[in-house]
Order: sequence, then structure tokens, then C-alpha cells
Amino acid sequence: MSKAIIGVLALQGDFREHLDAIGKCGAEGKEVRLPADLDGIAGLIIPGGESTTIGKLMAMYGMDRAIHTHRDDGMAIWGTCAGAILLARGIIGSSQPRLGMMDIAVKRNEYGRQVDSFETKLDVKGIGNLKGVFIRAPVIHHAGKAVEVLASHRGHPVLVRQDRLLASTFHPELSGSMAVHRYFIAMARNVG
Ligand code: GLN
Repeated sequence: MSKAIIGVLALQGDFREHLDAIGKCGAEGKEVRLPADLDGIAGLIIPGGESTTIGKLMAMYGMDRAIHTHRDDGMAIWGTCAGAILLARGIIGSSQPRLGMMDIAVKRNEYGRQVDSFETKLDVKGIGNLKGVFIRAPVIHHAGKAVEVLASHRGHPVLVRQDRLLASTFHPELSGSMAVHRYFIAMARNVG
């Protein structure tokens, strides 16, 4: 089987950690900055970072339109934390630029100051137990009918899937486990 090429949007945020994790899973990671970088990739990861900055840079480089086009052609997309915010159709209280592909509504930085960042054990459907690393994470307040909830924490979804789109409010690239990366690579390979 040929190596799947997984792109990581490398405009801002923790893209290097994702590239490391992809390599450890035996797939090929590729830094993606411009529309042409999307050619030939099976899946795209939008990393954690600062969602307003990533959204503005995406619009500036024409990446928002290019990502929509490649998604229509079958590319899988996974957003982690800021990336999940960018995938959401609704960002409560914000009109910031976004891809708006997933039927979820999120609120940024909503876990409160004293638990700004925390780790917790998650039980993930089809994967099992995982350590969830949350860093100034958004909370998913609404998930539409087409959205499957794969893991929740304190009554809110933290890992959701809609067809070939995946969103996590936590950071699997920082937990030492490659399980969600493996899940996404399998999802990206499995076209159709
Ligand atoms: N708080 C950031 C935002 O709203 C997301 C944090 C992260 O990606 N770790 O964009």
C-alpha cells in the first residue's frame, strides 16, 4: 500500500507536533501553506493555535476556497482546537473568518480561567481510553443530526465526526498517543 500523504496547515500553531505524529504512524506528512500544496493529499489537519490568526491567514492566501474545493473532491479534514473552531459553522459571539463546514456551534475559551488548560481521561468510541490535553479549548454547544459524537467530557462533545470531517477540542498530538492520528489516516485513505 502506498503511503498516504497527510497535509498539515502550517500557517500558525502547533503543526510540527502533528507532522511528527503522522511520521510515527507510517504516513507521510506535508506542510501546507498555499493552495497548490493541497494537490495530492488525502487528508488535511488544521492544528491548534489562534483561530482568528489562522482564519485571517487562510483568507489572505486563498486557502479557505482551496480547502473547500479539495473537500468537495474527497479530501478528509481534521481540526484540533483552533482547527475545530475553524471547521465549525457557528462560533458563538464571533464573526471571525472560518471554513464553516461542520454542523457544530462552539464557544471559544469556555472552560474558564482556573481550568484554562487541563488533562483528563477520555473514553473514545472505537478507540478506548485516551488522555485528553485541553489548552484554552472551545466548548461544543451544539452538534447537528449528521454529527457523530465520538467522545464527551462533562456533558459536551470533545471529538466529533461528520462524514469525512473530524474535530477535536483537545490536542492528540500532545498526548503521546497516536490513536486519533491513526483513526484520521484510516479515514483519509478510505475514499468513497
Ligand atoms: N483559544 C484558541 C482560539 O480560540 C484555541 C486554543 C488552541 O488551539 N489550543 O483560537
